[in-house]
Amino acid sequence: MDLADKLAILADSAKYDVACTSSGVERPGRHGALGSTAAAGICHAFTPDGRCVSLLKVLFSNACAYDCSYCVNRRSNPRPRATFTPRELAELTIGFYRRNYIEGLFLSSAVLGSPDATMERMIEALRILREEYRFNGYIHAKAIPGADPRLVERIGLLADRLSVNIELPSAKSLDALAPDKSKAAILRPMGQIAAQSAESRRDLAVYRHAPAFAPAGQSTQMIIGASPESDFQILRLTEGLYKKYALKRVFYSAYLPVVADSRLPALSTQPPLLREHRLYQADWLLRYYQFSAAEILSEDEPWFDEYLDPKCTWALRHPAFFPVEVNTAPKAALLRVPGIGPKSALRILQARRQQTLGMPELKRIGVVLKRAQYFITCGGRVAARGTRQEVAAALLDPGAFGVGVRQLSLDDFVARPLPGAAPAVHALAAAGVEAGRAARLVREEALQCLTRRI
Ligand code: SF4
Repeated sequence: MDLADKLAILADSAKYDVACTSSGVERPGRHGALGSTAAAGICHAFTPDGRCVSLLKVLFSNACAYDCSYCVNRRSNPRPRATFTPRELAELTIGFYRRNYIEGLFLSSAVLGSPDATMERMIEALRILREEYRFNGYIHAKAIPGADPRLVERIGLLADRLSVNIELPSAKSLDALAPDKSKAAILRPMGQIAAQSAESRRDLAVYRHAPAFAPAGQSTQMIIGASPESDFQILRLTEGLYKKYALKRVFYSAYLPVVADSRLPALSTQPPLLREHRLYQADWLLRYYQFSAAEILSEDEPWFDEYLDPKCTWALRHPAFFPVEVNTAPKAALLRVPGIGPKSALRILQARRQQTLGMPELKRIGVVLKRAQYFITCGGRVAARGTRQEVAAALLDPGAFGVGVRQLSLDDFVARPLPGAAPAVHALAAAGVEAGRAARLVREEALQCLTRRI
């Protein structure tokens, strides 16, 4: 098998891995070295389905010894297999870099024989890149659960970011769908990476030339919709991972059915993209808006609202918290207002030192007044009074009713629900209702329900 065939197979096998956004490391170009992590603006290109393409994203091997039921690369799935040699992978990366196709490398792998054997080969590929080719660009590598801690340490000294995929949101689902994996084997390297990253940062603060261990930190990926966990369980797990392992990002991957298996959703099931989107929104609330998982969802209300983003849902459940006076409220209270984000909250704090803020100033600052106006006062005056229906219309998430034209052939300009539209819109369209009408019908019903709730 030639290198082009291997690349075709291994790049295709890597497409289900979404944990590839990179950030947080700045290493400018060096004399005698190739590439830089800062100037490249890494991971700024995304495919139409949101996957990042500016790194060469590839598996080292797809010949897996494990048999995770949700995965195309599982042992029992008959499909073409390929494995790079370390030198092949290094030369391919450098060749692409020199031709300006890529700015860095995202390297994952199936379990080739054993976790240790896989990691040793990945490490050798990265060693050739870093030491022989003097490649100074960004590298994101997967640590394989179950590998020897010394191998995790070695790969952490070669890569900028490491990730260990948690895969499924509970130990029970792992046991059922990925019997070769265990929660303990996944969390162990996460703990090691968190501890060694922190130690490395302390060393670097004292010795400028101390070796950097995974300077861009670590991330993980979770598959959504393959197993029965609720949004609340997933969000609570996410919160725990951020706190305990200092993760930079948790990535959510809507399960795309690739195998017929009675333990998994049917092959005809749509990937839950709206749910994935809500999880990302809630994830931002955890990281940038000072929310906790228990404030966003609960045991009694464990699922996201399909038609409202999680912040609007919270605002509607806490009417006593509002209105917030923009001229005196602390930052934490401003961040709870729909339409005010971290940047606009900061600008409000700065601007109100100079003047009393009214609606025109808030508009200039970048506050989304369409939403915020119903939740704030400016100098003691209510910013806007709307009917319950007007408020509801301002809060509904337009993305849940998205319709677009996807041309499937030269003369096919038929509108269809966008992939992230609400399941009810997809269901109506599948039943033969014209997509635009389906979206309007679902929106009208959602508007009526929400108006009654307000
Ligand atoms: S370990 Fe499991 S998820 Fe990873 S490649 Fe192998 S079968 Fe797929």
